[in-house]
This record gives sequence, structure tokens and C-alpha cells, in this order.
Amino acid sequence: MGENAIEIEGLRKTYAASAGQPPKQALNGIDLTIPTGSIFGLLGPNGAGKSTLINILAGLVVKTSGRVKIWGFDQDVNPRQSRAAIGVMPQELNMDPFLTPRGSLEVQAGLYGVPKSARRTDEILDLIGLGDKASAYARSLSGGMKRRLLLGKALVHHPQILVLDEPTAGVDIELRQMLWQNVRKLNSERGMTIILTTHYLEEAQEMCDEIAIINRGTLIARDTTANLLNKMDAKTLVVVPEGEAPAEIALPDGVQMSRRKDGALEFDYHRHQISAGAVLDAVRAAGITPRDVATREADLEDVFLNLTTAG
Ligand code: ADP
Ligand code: MG
Repeated sequence: MGENAIEIEGLRKTYAASAGQPPKQALNGIDLTIPTGSIFGLLGPNGAGKSTLINILAGLVVKTSGRVKIWGFDQDVNPRQSRAAIGVMPQELNMDPFLTPRGSLEVQAGLYGVPKSARRTDEILDLIGLGDKASAYARSLSGGMKRRLLLGKALVHHPQILVLDEPTAGVDIELRQMLWQNVRKLNSERGMTIILTTHYLEEAQEMCDEIAIINRGTLIARDTTANLLNKMDAKTLVVVPEGEAPAEIALPDGVQMSRRKDGALEFDYHRHQISAGAVLDAVRAAGITPRDVATREADLEDVFLNLTTAG
């Protein structure tokens, strides 16, 4: 395989109007490449367009325009090959209550045209820790087991790319750890390219080599996790001075000050560059006596705001 497992150009999706709802532009022209062998995070708030994007990759949603290449195959030219290269664990739990995990995996393999001799049902059952539940009805499985089964179903046709849509939303810690262990193993041992969507910054931080952030159908950032974290460690120290603050205030490099209407001073700095203590020392050295001090940390919302307003 080449350098990129996925290549997306000018991808747009407008959902048609329905039930009194106007048409909805979910993706506004996305350009994105996802490197082969990476664990790639697609990060964004609810409604950003993450599921739409990966459902287009999976062939479950029809794009409005743009070009999508999966594992080197253009989706419009080679739909069968491009679909075969990708396995998706969907966000919603959708399963047949009357199938057993074994039955479910067999049916899924059948749908993908995997011949009996090439099926690895037992291996997958072991991988997802459902070996001892192989013959239980799906309706008797716990929520966590159902999610693991969805992971198994995404793997039946031995895809080179695995996509997980919000795999840990509403999932307990134990299951989350098991999922991550499995995902890391599939990535390191089989070289599988992993794409996961999440609206948890921490999760993307912990798991992903590279991250793309989308907001309202637009890509607003795409970088290595390390680089993004550097941009995201912005903090603000808010100081309410005793009396009037001096007109001239000397500050260390990397600290920026703004004066609020209520007289409070806001100092913006980057945690990796300077500590809150050092900022406070500089404030005192400038002759300011703090009456009240508070810190504020950039969260994902701030980062979105920063990125969208900065350009
Ligand atoms: P995310 O997965 O990031 O939460 P989605 O891709 O599910 O975002 O949704 C993006 C936008 O498209 C949202 O505004 C959502 O309401 C809308 N949307 C998603 N699916 C449909 C659909 N089938 N019909 C109409 N609008 C939809
Ligand atoms: Mg979603």
C-alpha cells in the first residue's frame, strides 16, 4: 500500500430536506489524507459531521460530491474493492436479537462474501473475549458485550482499515481498556490502519498518532497529536488587583496581558513554556498585589473557537 490508506478530496454531503426539516449541509468540502498504519483520530463536537464522514467511507451514506479513495481504490470506480478494504464499528448498537455472536459473525462474513474456508470466526470470538458466549442470544448479552460483538463484525472480512465511531461513548472503564488493547494490537501486530471518532479530547490524545478536528462540516485542524497538544495547552491566569493596576507592566516572554472592563487582568500563557507560579511572580514584580487569582484552561470548545476565529 502507498503512503495513504485514505484520500479524500472536496468531500461534500447535503442531507435532503425531510419531515419539515430544511436540507442539512453536513460536510462542506473536506480534504483529508490518513496515513497507512496510523491510529488516526477524527475529533469534533456532536453534530460536526464525523459519522457522516465515516459512513461515506463505509459506503453507508452516499456523498453529494467529492472524491474518496480507500486503499488506493476510488469509491466511484471500484466500489467493491474500496468497501472490502474497510471495516466499520458503528456508533449505534444495531443487532439482530435472535442471532448468537457466532451466528452474527457468520452472517456478516456471508454479506461480505467471505468463503467458509477463509472465515476466522473462532479467532475473532477470542479476540473480542466472547469465546464463552459464542452461542448465547444477542439479546442476553450485556451492553459491553454487544459493543465487542460490533467490533468483531467489523473484522470478519479482514479489512486493512478499521473505523470505530465513538467506540467508548457510554462505555465503562473496563470495556474501554479492552477495546483500546485490541485496537493497539490490531495496529501493531497486523499493521491495521485505525480511524476513530470521538468527542473526547483525552481519548484522542491517549490513542492517536495524528488528529483531524472537524467542526460544522469543515476541517479546522490536522496535525500530529504532539503538535496539537502544544497548541492546546493555552492557559489564562485571571488576577483581580488590589487597587489600580500600573499602566506599564513588564512580562516574561510568551505571556500576553489584556485588561478587562471590570479592572481584572488576564494573562495568557502556554503551560509547556511557563508555569502559573512564574506568571504570578512576574505580576507581583510589576507591583501588582493580587486580591483574587483564578486560572482558566483551554478546553476543546476554546480550541475550536480559537481555531475557527484564527482562520
Ligand atoms: P457527528 O457524528 O459529528 O455527531 P453527524 O455526521 O452525525 O455528526 O451529523 C452531522 C450533521 O448532519 C448534524 O447536524 C446532523 O443533525 C445531520 N444529520 C446526520 N444524519 C442525518 C440524516 N440522516 N438526515 C438529515 N440530517 C442528518
Ligand atoms: Mg456521530
